[in-house]
Amino acid sequence: MSRVFNFSAGPAVLPEEVLKEAAEEMLDYRGCGMSVMEMSHRSKVFDQIIKEAEADIRTLMNIPDNYKVLFLQGGASQQFAAVPMNLMKNKKAGYIITGQWAKKAFQEAKMYGEAVELASSADETFSYIPDCSDLPITDDMDYVYICENNTIYGTKFKTLPNTKGKDLVADVSSCFLSEPVDVTKYGIIYGGVQKNVGPAGMVIVIIREDLIRDDVLPGTPTMLKYKTQADNDSLYNTPPCYDIYICGKVFKWLLKNGGLSAMKELNEKKAKILYDYLDSSKLFKGTVRKEDRSLMNVPFVTGNEELDAKFVKEATEAGFVNLKGHRTVGGMRASIYNAMPIEGVEKLVEFMKKFEEENA
Ligand code: PMP
Repeated sequence: MSRVFNFSAGPAVLPEEVLKEAAEEMLDYRGCGMSVMEMSHRSKVFDQIIKEAEADIRTLMNIPDNYKVLFLQGGASQQFAAVPMNLMKNKKAGYIITGQWAKKAFQEAKMYGEAVELASSADETFSYIPDCSDLPITDDMDYVYICENNTIYGTKFKTLPNTKGKDLVADVSSCFLSEPVDVTKYGIIYGGVQKNVGPAGMVIVIIREDLIRDDVLPGTPTMLKYKTQADNDSLYNTPPCYDIYICGKVFKWLLKNGGLSAMKELNEKKAKILYDYLDSSKLFKGTVRKEDRSLMNVPFVTGNEELDAKFVKEATEAGFVNLKGHRTVGGMRASIYNAMPIEGVEKLVEFMKKFEEENA
């Protein structure tokens, strides 16, 4: 068996320990004689799996009792619609546009009401986070929306916007569980799990209870109503059972490894290795304003497309895979989520140094 260093932005690297444990339990989950894929979502065994998963994410993120945790299907993109359908009482919300995912959410929201662009960093290819200290938020807005970590461009909100008392909704898909968060600062936090948490196919929604309402927009599908999902503890229909099981294992892995503070420390250490090198390199350079750099997604370029392609090719051959930048921006991007070991980053930098020498 040989595992590569996988720098994919998602679906992405998972902890080896979790994969091995899942492999061991594949044919016979703890004496049940079947795998988790094969068991009823109404069974006692699965009930324990989902309850433990919820308890563990609550511990990890220190989620207060007045927030619900929902394990849902439809990916993060489904939430682009679910959020306005459930929250747009006044049919108006403010969006901060920091990249393609925020833009998609913004465009989706326009189908349901008045979505207002509060700030944008489109003018410099989303390479920074705009000043959000005094946004044109009006009283009639139902919420303020951000994409907290911008997977494609590699930026992250280091301070949350001043929402002037409005509820903050955040897509945290690419920074989920990478550092401690103060859940009380948000109305809704949601993330697709396929980057930092588990296999593709699930989105976790953490929502303050008063935002779970019956009076959603007319036409909201039953499945998309947070109330349906909350009232049924994410078991209104068949949930993504295997995904919940693997995410549960990742939560336990995180708890065992010191929780989110320890993760943050490690993620800062890993990112520093790469950013320090980018800052000193004469060949490679980072594309993001320093103070807005993500700990998770690190885009970089040589400034020469042919050389970028050569680098990606040679890196792949050397076992550093999925380093090609997003198809819309080019260059390279190293996604260094929780499960990327520090050696992966150290070895990547060694490889980049060698490439720099050879291509000087
Ligand atoms: N938001 C962010 C920040 C993302 O990075 C992605 C996926 N790359 C999405 C949303 C869309 O996620 P999904 O494919 O789960 O719908």
